[in-house]
Amino acid sequence: MKRRYLILAVVTILMLAGVAVGYSFLSSNENLMRIEEAGKEFEILDQTLASKMQVYTQSVMKNLEGAASAISTIGGEKATKEELMAVLTQLKERGGYDELSYVGTKNDAMSSNGSTYDVSFDPYYGRALNGDSTITKSGYLSEEDDSYMATVPVKGAAGITGALRAKLSATAVEGNLTISNYRGREVILLLNRDGEVIHVSSGTDLSNTKTIYDVFGKNSDSRAQFESVVRQGRGLFLRVDENLTVEVFGDGPYYIAYQGVSGTGEWGVMMIMNEEKLFEFYKNDAVSSNAITAVILFLIALVGAIGLGIYGFFETRSRNRMYNLAYYDEFAGTMNINYFRKGVNQTLTKSNSTQYAFVLMGIAKYEYLRDFFGENEISRILREISQILKSNVKRDEYFCHNFGEEYDLLLSYHNRDELVARLKFLEGSLEMVNKSEGGSDKYALTFRYGVAFGGADAHDFDTLMSRANMAHMEAKGKGAGAVEFYTEKMQSRIVDEKEIERDMYDALENKEFLVYLQPKFNLSTGLQAGAEALIRWMHPVKGLMYPGRFIETFEKNGFVTRLDMYMLEELCRRIKVWTGKGYRPMPLSLNISQQNLLNPEFVNDAIALTEKYGVSPNLIIFEMSEKVVVDNMGILNKIMEQMKDHGFVVSMDNFGTGSTSMNTLYNVPVDELKIDRKFLLNAEKTDRGQNVIQSVIEMAKRLKIDVVSEGVENKQQAILLREMGCDMIQGFAFSEPLPEHEYEEYAYGPRARDNSVW
Ligand code: C2E
Ligand code: CA
Ligand code: CA
Repeated sequence: MKRRYLILAVVTILMLAGVAVGYSFLSSNENLMRIEEAGKEFEILDQTLASKMQVYTQSVMKNLEGAASAISTIGGEKATKEELMAVLTQLKERGGYDELSYVGTKNDAMSSNGSTYDVSFDPYYGRALNGDSTITKSGYLSEEDDSYMATVPVKGAAGITGALRAKLSATAVEGNLTISNYRGREVILLLNRDGEVIHVSSGTDLSNTKTIYDVFGKNSDSRAQFESVVRQGRGLFLRVDENLTVEVFGDGPYYIAYQGVSGTGEWGVMMIMNEEKLFEFYKNDAVSSNAITAVILFLIALVGAIGLGIYGFFETRSRNRMYNLAYYDEFAGTMNINYFRKGVNQTLTKSNSTQYAFVLMGIAKYEYLRDFFGENEISRILREISQILKSNVKRDEYFCHNFGEEYDLLLSYHNRDELVARLKFLEGSLEMVNKSEGGSDKYALTFRYGVAFGGADAHDFDTLMSRANMAHMEAKGKGAGAVEFYTEKMQSRIVDEKEIERDMYDALENKEFLVYLQPKFNLSTGLQAGAEALIRWMHPVKGLMYPGRFIETFEKNGFVTRLDMYMLEELCRRIKVWTGKGYRPMPLSLNISQQNLLNPEFVNDAIALTEKYGVSPNLIIFEMSEKVVVDNMGILNKIMEQMKDHGFVVSMDNFGTGSTSMNTLYNVPVDELKIDRKFLLNAEKTDRGQNVIQSVIEMAKRLKIDVVSEGVENKQQAILLREMGCDMIQGFAFSEPLPEHEYEEYAYGPRARDNSVW
C-alpha cells in the first residue's frame, strides 16, 4: 500500500514537473520573440532573401561570363559564322540554357537555334555593350514569353567586343526564387527597377498584377517613396497603417520590406505581410513548437525519472538554440542586430548616455569585394573582423554585424579625439585582416565611419542608429578611413529631401514647376538665336527653389523623367502660342536627364508631344550632359540618331567637365556643343587654356558642330570667344533666365530689337 502511494506521488511530481517545463518554455519563448522585435526580424529576413537570390543569380552570371570568355577566345566577331555557331551550340548544352545568342558590336544577334535577329532597340544588349551584366524577364519582348534572359558583355583584349545572352527557362529560375520565411503567410514579390512584378511567391494569386501599384493601389501616399527605393535598389522598411490598402490582403497595418538584389542590374525583393498575420505566426510557432517540446519533456521526465536534472539540461540547451536563432549572425560569426539593440537600450537606460558613442562602421566597396572574392571568402573576412572587434570592446560596450558592409558599435568615450584615436587603432588591426600569409595585400580593406553621440535627445537605439547612418552616408562620399559626426544639418538636409519627395507629385499637379528661359545669342550677328529652358520650383512653403536643390533627388528617384516630359510639353505649348501670334520662331533648348535618355519610350513620347501641338521638331534642342553621353556611348549614339532622324536637334551640354577625349567628338552625332563655364574661365586665365578651347572650336567646325559658350559674364569674354570662332553665347552678361512673361516681352516685345551683344 505504502509503496503504491510512493509510486503515485513520484508520478504526480514528475507530471507536475512536465507541466512546469512546458509552461516555462512557453513563457520564455514568448519573451524571447517579443512582438516588437518581429518587425525588425521581418526586415532582416527580407535582406536574407535578397542575398539568397543574389547567390543564385551570381552563379548564373559567373557561368555565362565563362561562356563569354570562350567566345572571346575564338575571336568573337572575327570568327566565322560556322565556328561561332558550333561554339554557341556547345556552350548552350554545357550551360543548360534554352537558347544562347551572341551579338557583336553590330546589331545582328546570332542564336544557337540558327536564327539571326536585330537587337538595336534592345536596352539590355546596349547595357551589356557598356559593360553591365543584367538578368531580367523577357516579357518585354513578347507578352507570352515567360523565360528569363541573362546578358553579359564579351570582353576581348581591346575592350568589349560584343554581348552574350542566355535564355533560361522560368521553372529553372523561379525554382530557385521560391523561398518562404513565414510559411506562405507573406507575399514575396520580385520587382524590376520600374516596379514591374517579375515573379510572385507561390501560393499567392496575383495573376493580374503587372506592377507594384496594382498591389498598393494608385493612390498610395507611399508611392513616391516606393518609386524611389525601387529604382535605386536600396533597402526600405515600413510599417504602414494608414491610407493604404494592399488589395490582395484587405486592411493594414502592414510590414513592407524591400531590398535590391545587387549584381542583377535590375531586381529587388519586396516582402509584404499583414501585421496580424505576422504576430499570429510567432504565436502559433511558439505554441506549437513549445507544445511538442513540453510533451517530449513530459515523457522523458516520466520515463527517465532523473526528474529535474534532465529538465535543467534540456532547458538550457534548447534555450541556447532559440537564443542563437534570434541573436546570432552565422555568416559573420557574431551577435546580430537584435542582440545589439537590446544591449544598447539596456546600457543607455541604466548609465549616462553622454558617455557613449554609436559608431556605424562600413566596409568600403563591399559589393565589389563580394563579387570578387565570393561568399565564402567574405564570410571568412567578416568572421575575422568580428574576432578583432570582440577582443577590443570593453564591459558594457557592444557591437554586431548588421548586414552586408555594416558593423554597429556602441563605445564608451570621453572626447572626440580619443574616440577617433581608438577607431584608428582598431583600423590598424582590421587592415591586416585581408593580408595573405606573406603579409602582402590581397586587397586592402578600408572603412568609413559614421558617429552619433548619446545625449539627452539621443538615448535609444533607433535615434542613434538613424543619426549614425546619416553620418555614415556622408563619410561614404569621402576617402578611406573618413570619420563623420552627426550634425543637425544632416538631419535637416534629409528632412528637406524627404519633403521634396513628398511634395513633388502635388507640385506637378499644382503647376508649381516654372519654366524660365535664358536667351542665347549669335556672336556674328549679335542677335538672339534661341533660349534654354531652366526649371524653377515655386514651393508654397520653401519659396522659389533652383534645380540644384531638387534635380539630383529627382534623378535618383526617377521623377525627373516625368518632369522632363512636363517641361517639353510646356515648351511645345509656348511655341504653339507664339507661332500663333506670328512671332519669329526661335529654337528652345531642354535639358534631358540620363534617366530619360535611357528610357526606350522617350523619343516616341517626344514625337507624340510635338505632333499634339503641331510644333516642328527642329525648334526643340535636346541638351544632354557630356558625362551622360560618354558613360552611355553605345546606346546613346543610336538614340541620338533616332532623335535626329525625326528632326530634333541634339546638343552636348557641359562640355569640358567630363573626361572626353577630343576623339569623342568624332564618334557622337551631335549638332551643337555647349562649352562649360569652367572651360571658359580657364581659357581666360592661361594661354594653354585658350589653345585648348580654340582647338575644340576648330575641331567642332570641321565636324559641322555649332559651338555655344555658356556662363558668359562680361563683354570681354564675348569678344575673345568671337575671335576664337565660337558661334553662340549664353550668360548673365546679356540676360539671366527669365520667367515666361518677362521672356515673351524680352524676345518679342517692342524693345526686342535692342537685344544685341554688340
Ligand atoms: P545647365 O544646363 O548647365 O544650365 C546652366 C546653368 O548655369 C543654369 O543654372 C543657369 O542659370 C546658369 N547660368 C547661366 N548663365 C550663367 C552665367 O553667366 N554665370 C553663371 N555663374 N551661371 C550661369 P540653373 O538654372 O540653376 O540650372 C542648373 C542645372 O540644373 C542645369 O545646368 C541643368 O543641368 C539642370 N536643369 C535645369 N533645368 C532643368 C530641367 O528642366 N530638366 C533637367 N533634367 N535638368 C534641368
Ligand atoms: Ca543645359
Ligand atoms: Ca550647361
